[in-house]
Amino acid sequence: MRDTITRIIEEVHRRYAGTMDGSLADYIPELTRADPNHFGIAVVTADGYRYAVGDVDVPFTIQSVSKAFTYGMALDHRGAAAVEERVGVEPSGEAFNSISLDPGTGRPRNPMINAGAIAVTGMLPDREAEPRFEHIRSTFSRFAARELTWDDEVYASESATGFRNRAIANLLRSFDILDGPTDPVVEDYFRQCSLQVTCSDLATMAATLAHGGVNPVTGDAVLTLGNVEKVLSVMATCGMYDYSGTWVYEVGLPAKSGVGGGVLGGLPGQFGIALFSPLLDEKFNSVRGVAGFRDLSREFDLHLLRAPSMSKHAIRRHYRLSDVSSRRGRPDEDLELLAEVGRKVLVLELQGDLFAASLERVIRSLASDGDGVEVVVLDLRRAGATDGSTVGLLRGLAETVAAVGQHLVVTDQARVLPSDAFAGLDVEVARTLDDAMRGCEDALLGDAGRAPAGSVRLDLAEFELVRHLGDHERARLLPRFVERSYAAGEVIVEQGADADALYLLGSGVAEVEFADPLDGSVERIADLYPGVVIGELGLLGQGRRSATVRAVTDVACFELSRFELMRLRSSDHLVYTRIIEDLLVSTAERLRRANREASLLRD
Ligand code: GLN
Repeated sequence: MRDTITRIIEEVHRRYAGTMDGSLADYIPELTRADPNHFGIAVVTADGYRYAVGDVDVPFTIQSVSKAFTYGMALDHRGAAAVEERVGVEPSGEAFNSISLDPGTGRPRNPMINAGAIAVTGMLPDREAEPRFEHIRSTFSRFAARELTWDDEVYASESATGFRNRAIANLLRSFDILDGPTDPVVEDYFRQCSLQVTCSDLATMAATLAHGGVNPVTGDAVLTLGNVEKVLSVMATCGMYDYSGTWVYEVGLPAKSGVGGGVLGGLPGQFGIALFSPLLDEKFNSVRGVAGFRDLSREFDLHLLRAPSMSKHAIRRHYRLSDVSSRRGRPDEDLELLAEVGRKVLVLELQGDLFAASLERVIRSLASDGDGVEVVVLDLRRAGATDGSTVGLLRGLAETVAAVGQHLVVTDQARVLPSDAFAGLDVEVARTLDDAMRGCEDALLGDAGRAPAGSVRLDLAEFELVRHLGDHERARLLPRFVERSYAAGEVIVEQGADADALYLLGSGVAEVEFADPLDGSVERIADLYPGVVIGELGLLGQGRRSATVRAVTDVACFELSRFELMRLRSSDHLVYTRIIEDLLVSTAERLRRANREASLLRD
């Protein structure tokens, strides 16, 4: 069974494969040798995966598609200002071979028509160690993730007939847009146009532009990000010659076509797409290429100006620490305190891409939901890409938060932010959301004078369960406990085993692990600290252990076995009832809390 993406591409391919409208470019005689039946469509994703249908491996000459890439090279080599001085960025509204120069300065209107492209080629370095054309060939190869060669016959054929381009070059020379002899530049321009590519190559080249200049197949950074934006802009407004306005209107993607029959385009962050079919319309764009692109753009919703609004659900969840706690098992009295003071901590779990429109939601929600908040935790675990504005906006948010006396904690497990994003600001960066929540809980408990979790060593008499018993009851109960110690790593209760005792954790740290019986995976569910009761559920329900509890450090526990509990029931029924009641109350409170958390955390 074909995947859905391939099926959509195949459908588009089938739709136009029979269209024989248009004609082969014949002003370069060699191009008439092309097979008018050839038709290929290739899509390369921003992570380098390729979909291909039809004649995607047939070589043809790149022709004008090359102009987008040499323009990027010139921007990287000379800097934007120097390039802009010689070539404009205005659509000419005229054919690709028009002599469209600014009447005063001689500056070609844009780099996507021949005049601009020849000027651009003239700006590329021509060194003895690496002659200009070799530099172009090797850089294009990096865009394509493959060593490209050229078609000598097409080159010779164009060179033999390319008088108009020579005339353009000479005009450029007269305006000092080209320096030095024009022939070598024009010949290199012809050679650049004769580079042989396949439809697959063009899709990879487009994907490199869609992926910020980094080839998604090889990871090679071919073009700097700032210049990718410039290349794509000019492609969007001028890439299809005098069809560019209609193209943006209907297809809505930056694109570039060539008289060899190739068209490529891409949507940043999503796809690089290429179509190849040598039959051209009167504007010298591939007939099937234009029609197929129009359909693909519609099928995949690629129109630039119809970008989905990803900001709607930027905040996946928000809650206070009073309602949801970390996975640290704490004594009831600590949980009770946190159920109140936890209101001071607001947790926002973000999702999706972080850019101005999504962060605006976050900023607004902080302003309206800040009542009594002292700490704001921003969880970026599910956040996606960032753009140039993200760090600045987050820094601004940190400053606003600080200005109203709140403290900001950011968790960036997926590392979407640069490590120095908050340099110089009072922002705490935590590894995981749970770490951040634990940290906040510890701080709140510390503020209330509670000893740091894990540091205490509790005596049996200090446990809540025992504390409010009278002397007489205590004397009946305490001797039934046995003190047990476990070395770090030892199992205290084992999942699936018979629940035959409960434990009061007196000192040290233990962890709860759940092994999924279906796939055997083991998940660490919680940490347990002194003051907690372990294993009462199994004991009360007379069932089996639902999870494993293991000592993380050396642990001391007080064990009350079912046997002793039963003896207590027959000898001191009142004490027994008290204990069971207390356990029940504590369990009910935990259940209530768990229900509240579950309702807040549901998806
Ligand atoms: N080499 C061709 C020329 O200069 C490129 C034109 C094109 O692809 N539109 O005429």
